[in-house]
Amino acid sequence: MSDAKIIDGKAFAAGLRERVGAKVAKITDAHGLKPNLTVILVGEDPASQVYVRNKGTQTVEAGMESVTHRLDADTPEATLLSMIKTLNDDKACNGILVQLPLPSHIDESKVLAAIDPDKDVDGFHILNVGRLWTGQSALVPCTPYGCLLMLKDHFGSLSGKRALVLGRSNIVGKPMAALLLNESCTVSIAHSRTEDLEARCREADILVAAVGRPEMVKGDWIKPGAVVIDVGINRVDAPEKGEGKKKLVGDVDFAQASSVASAITPVPGGVGPMTIACLLRNTLVAACRQNGIDAPDI
Ligand code: NDP
Repeated sequence: MSDAKIIDGKAFAAGLRERVGAKVAKITDAHGLKPNLTVILVGEDPASQVYVRNKGTQTVEAGMESVTHRLDADTPEATLLSMIKTLNDDKACNGILVQLPLPSHIDESKVLAAIDPDKDVDGFHILNVGRLWTGQSALVPCTPYGCLLMLKDHFGSLSGKRALVLGRSNIVGKPMAALLLNESCTVSIAHSRTEDLEARCREADILVAAVGRPEMVKGDWIKPGAVVIDVGINRVDAPEKGEGKKKLVGDVDFAQASSVASAITPVPGGVGPMTIACLLRNTLVAACRQNGIDAPDI
């Protein structure tokens, strides 16, 4: 039996999408501006195709314009860079997202650096990374921003809380740590070389797990009453569902953790749905800033 409050990311994301949609309708009415999100997908990675399709659908549902460019897996890097340059110069395009991962012949860092930082709705451009770490207004990576919104909703103020971020990727771990630091948490970052990992986790009032290791964080790693945000999405065998069947689990052992934590995000239905909702929010913010309109505080 679970004692922890389940943080319902699906419902939270639906609320955020609704707020974004309402604001989009207002600025379209008042300024004739329909924010445009342009996604570039290189190759045919099946998971990326699903993500890109979902992004397109939800963009349109929020009243924004969605454009998707699908390029062959062997597209030269120069062609992709030239497409990004054209989009940077195109006033009708407000947000540019290059779906990762890219085929191995393309230099990811070169591609991310080519995107206009003001259209960088994934928040991966080095200028947005620098702005985030220096506490300036930035376009912030969507997954950690979604985690932050749920934490702020749960706690109100995060000031003084002891937070541990498990994972140090540029996409999740590091920006998550920066966001929590900007909220005046006392932040630690743990990774594969961290000593006494379990003890470090047990010190945290807020534990964010982003490691990509199925159910690695056990119940006795968690401080009683802590809030646990599980970013992990791991597809594992589910023989109980039938032969060859799979299921999604997080980086946290949910059954164990939910009897120790005070609140926890489930997988699926926790952090996952927040990512695209925050992408829509970033596109709206980018469009407002590019057009001298006050960006909404959502
Ligand atoms: P990465 O593989 O880029 O990073 C994983 C991090 O975990 C690394 O910093 C690594 O340490 C650390 N790590 C790995 N194994 C261990 C271990 N045994 N002990 C301690 N630390 C460890 O992953 P991402 O950050 O991209 O993603 C993390 C998870 O979040 C994945 O499951 C991914 O699918 C999911 N995800 C979910 C999203 C969503 O929308 N909900 C979006 C993005 C990711 P080191 O640096 O030392 O190698």
